[in-house]
Amino acid sequence: MTTIKLLLLPGDGIGPEVMAEVEKIIGVFASEGAANFEIEKGLVGGCAYDAHGQAISDSDMALAGAADAVLLAAVGGPKWDAVPYDVRPEAGLLRLRKELALYANLRPAICYPALASASSLKREVVEGLDIMIVRELTGGVYFGEPKQIFDLGNGQKRAIDTQVYDTFEIERIGRTAFELARKRGNKVTSSEKRNVMKSGVLWHEVMIALHKREYPDVKLEHQLADALGMQLVRWPKQFDVIVTDNLFGDMLSDVAAMLTGSLGMLPSASLGDVDPKSGRRRALYEPVHGSAPDIAGKGLANPIAMIGSFGMALRYSFGLNAAADRLDAAIARVLETGLRTADIRGEGDRLVSTGEMGDAIAAELGRNPG
Ligand code: NAD
Repeated sequence: MTTIKLLLLPGDGIGPEVMAEVEKIIGVFASEGAANFEIEKGLVGGCAYDAHGQAISDSDMALAGAADAVLLAAVGGPKWDAVPYDVRPEAGLLRLRKELALYANLRPAICYPALASASSLKREVVEGLDIMIVRELTGGVYFGEPKQIFDLGNGQKRAIDTQVYDTFEIERIGRTAFELARKRGNKVTSSEKRNVMKSGVLWHEVMIALHKREYPDVKLEHQLADALGMQLVRWPKQFDVIVTDNLFGDMLSDVAAMLTGSLGMLPSASLGDVDPKSGRRRALYEPVHGSAPDIAGKGLANPIAMIGSFGMALRYSFGLNAAADRLDAAIARVLETGLRTADIRGEGDRLVSTGEMGDAIAAELGRNPG
């Protein structure tokens, strides 16, 4: 039986509540012998600061490095607004991304039929939607140097951010997108602004060369990032895998997110290179949402984004595609029965708590064993 070493980092706010629901799902898979789960737990974010004055400790970083995958729920909250910048809760997340070198951020936008009416777009535009946005996560304008504000001495200041990409960075994110497309609809849409940005010119050239050399079987299209934003809300079903840089990916994935209704439904994965020791790709799985301090501790949080993030781990870290498909199907069936947490509740739906939603999904999963 495969042994899967997971590090769970529940974090702050609603984090521990939604992580508890994932543990129920892990329990179902473990009890049916899908894998031997070895679970470690650690602290990240404000709770880590409270415990030892750091947003993540060196020992928890070591656990993250040794794990086959890290599951993180959420960090932050008003309690830690005034802590020093370098130990603020988000610093824990950034340290994990940086030290595990997680350069590929995968955000699926899937619209469950039962939730099509929760989207701000028309039902026919979003029903059955299944797209994947692949965002470059460790380069581009968020990290490029110089990055500075200068005083020009004449009452004016000048701010500089630098958008910079090297060939290898574009190739590795391109490979992630092409490989994913091969397992899905076999189509990649690459997006940049080559009409006004040199980094866009290189991005476009490198994608074309990579496609020709290594992935001629996959369909490749190009769209300027502004046009793609428009197409995402006009007819999103035209896309399969979208690959783009850090800045455009940040914005376009948020647009895509809202096609599906609620933040509480959105999982994500951040992937790095294959670890030479374990042979596994370094990976962090987390919901898109934050720690939601406004609803923390009230049993109101939707656990589906967190549970879906675990589903992505089954698929992308462990190749347990059948298990991931069963989990997705269990979520869809529970939604079809009309059970809803408050964030996705419509007229006639039955309101359930975080725990009841997790119980329902775990029970549904258990009713349909692999
Ligand atoms: P948020 O995602 O925490 O919440 C935005 C809104 O969505 C809130 O009304 C919240 O109640 C709701 N919401 C979020 N997740 C939900 C869920 N699972 N179920 C039901 N409703 C949900 O974003 P915010 O309010 O801007 O930030 C709150 C804190 O979280 C801040 O400290 C912020 O820095 C942090 N944050 C952390 C992450 C992360 O850990 N990756 C991401 C974003 C924000």
